[in-house]
Amino acid sequence: MRPVVTTCSYCGVGCTLEVRTLRGRIVKVTSPPDAPANRGNLCVKGRFGHDYVTSPDRLTRPLVRRGDRRTGRLEPASWEEALDLVARRLASVRERYGPGAVAGFSSAKCTNEENYLFQKFLRAVIGTHNVDHCARLCHASSVVAMNLALGATAMTNSIGEIRDHADVILVTGSNTSENHPIVALEMKAAVARGARLILIDPREIELARFATVWLRQRPGTDVAVLSGLAHVIIRDGLWNREFVERFTEGFEELAAAVAHYTPQVVEALSGVPARDVEEAARLYATSPAAAIFWGMGISQHTTGTDNALALVNLALLCGQLGRPGTGLNPLRGQNNVQGAGDMGALPHVLPGYVPVTDAEGRRRFEALWGVRLPEAPGLTATEVTEAACDGRVRALYVMGENPALTDANLNHVRHCLEQLEFLVVQDIFLTETAAMADVVLPAWSWAEKDGTFTSTERRVQRVRRFLDPPGEARADWDILSDLARRLGSDWRYDSAEAIFEEIRRAVPAYAGITYARIEERGLQWPCPAEDHPGTPYLFAGGLPRGRGRFHPVGYLDPAELPDDEFPLILITGRVLYHWHGGVISRRSAGLNEIYPEALVELHPDDAARLGVHDGQMVRVRSRRGEVTAAARVTERSRPGSVFLTFHFAEAAANLLTNDALDPRARIPEFKVAAVAVEAVARSR
Ligand code: SF4
Repeated sequence: MRPVVTTCSYCGVGCTLEVRTLRGRIVKVTSPPDAPANRGNLCVKGRFGHDYVTSPDRLTRPLVRRGDRRTGRLEPASWEEALDLVARRLASVRERYGPGAVAGFSSAKCTNEENYLFQKFLRAVIGTHNVDHCARLCHASSVVAMNLALGATAMTNSIGEIRDHADVILVTGSNTSENHPIVALEMKAAVARGARLILIDPREIELARFATVWLRQRPGTDVAVLSGLAHVIIRDGLWNREFVERFTEGFEELAAAVAHYTPQVVEALSGVPARDVEEAARLYATSPAAAIFWGMGISQHTTGTDNALALVNLALLCGQLGRPGTGLNPLRGQNNVQGAGDMGALPHVLPGYVPVTDAEGRRRFEALWGVRLPEAPGLTATEVTEAACDGRVRALYVMGENPALTDANLNHVRHCLEQLEFLVVQDIFLTETAAMADVVLPAWSWAEKDGTFTSTERRVQRVRRFLDPPGEARADWDILSDLARRLGSDWRYDSAEAIFEEIRRAVPAYAGITYARIEERGLQWPCPAEDHPGTPYLFAGGLPRGRGRFHPVGYLDPAELPDDEFPLILITGRVLYHWHGGVISRRSAGLNEIYPEALVELHPDDAARLGVHDGQMVRVRSRRGEVTAAARVTERSRPGSVFLTFHFAEAAANLLTNDALDPRARIPEFKVAAVAVEAVARSR
């Protein structure tokens, strides 16, 4: 049985898979030992979690709602009827209210080719920049910060450098062992070689066992802790003078800003002992090669951009950039969230991160697409929700996203979605959002399509078809092309590769990548020419914006703090066995069997005070909603905080989360919400 070589559909690590099938089902998944990101290793999701593609729940026919928007039923329809209806309703909204009344959410689970076409559909066919995707909810703040300070929008270095080159690894806001397990494996291998690990995290995650120093801060105090590190580094003269003078600007402003954050002040603000701040600062600054990794514990705050800027400040201060084993490395969540951004599925940039406000850049795309483009940026996903509520957005096209489960403050989000005149959802399952739609279009899963994903380390890799699609489902790019033609655009793509050839013309960093070149092994962008070998780490020859810019930041409280009524802090996150809204992982039998229900992690001190025992059902309430789930009493959670995943619709953590936004990145504060917990009589 010959395997098909493809790329994992779960997280952004981009592990290479060899998939073997028998009679239309996956029977074995392995990985070659020379796989670039994962060296032949796979986590439980990659190895055993892909049977969702043959789930009986797959959508196989278009569905159209008959009758009233709220009470009518979704019923099977022909493609002809469904696509005609979508085209007619989108055109009608555009005609009556203007193109800005239409918005679209693209998908970090779809291929580069599909993301490119989706944003092109909104921009070139509808005439709006109102296109966004789930990066808004995960690393929008990291992208804003890195772009502001460095002119970069991705992980600067490669996963393989962790094991081979890093002497110090600083991990913050990332439960790497559960969310990017293969990266954690590389980190543990580095520690076994003698590298030292600095962990900054309020939860006692697995990596704490491998850490030389663990800073267990109060949730939301990251800027204070990171400014404390910068304070010690400057105070003790540990900064890299040569690098700062040659490659940065704004040092004096940074030094003034962090002067206040003595280790004692940091201890008072964050609860981290002053001596640990001192030790972490010395370790990071004096290492020959120190790399920073972060996840959504940094980015999902109202101060998410400031948090990421504080990390950039540290790397600039110590010159920990531009060499193997160094760098600034936001670990991207979804399999193709990096690619979705690269393809321009964002409201303020065109493909290749060309600002929509850049007249020359805009003209280049106008020539490529043969249309005039609007000059002002569109709405972010979080702004689209509000605009749906107040009537500025009337029609929404959602491809492979599920805002009715994954956005913050769900009761409000669902209310806003109900106000839309028209909602079309293209997906592989009837998600919570699809169940609210007027039209549902059944799409191919990753197993049924060809194309490319771009991993968190900027590696563009092939995705290959190994199963036939179910029923009448169609490829996302095929559906988009059909709709574009119905709306008057002459789109004639006949394959994913044909779309990729257009991407190469649109995005200079992808220009040198061809399907033939990545047949065996992916290439890391920037790869500007066909004889370019790709770029394992950025900034070897200097920074794209000339000099890296220090951005002084100061500690601000989270938007919501505990009080008498809601005395605990809720942190949301993920576990090893599940994935985001659970749409795919909960349809994988093995994963679901191991981890079948939502659990509320409580520290034993809080549990004792509340009279809660392990396994007891508890109600968690915030100002926005409530959920009921079983308690897990564990010292993993810091006293005063509780942890809940957002994988389970029946105990949806986002009913509780706060939709207060970071002012620059417009990302909600998923990581800090004030809640109350009480035992309930009902048994499990
Ligand atoms: S680490 Fe990520 S990409 Fe690799 S197998 Fe696991 S889920 Fe898939």
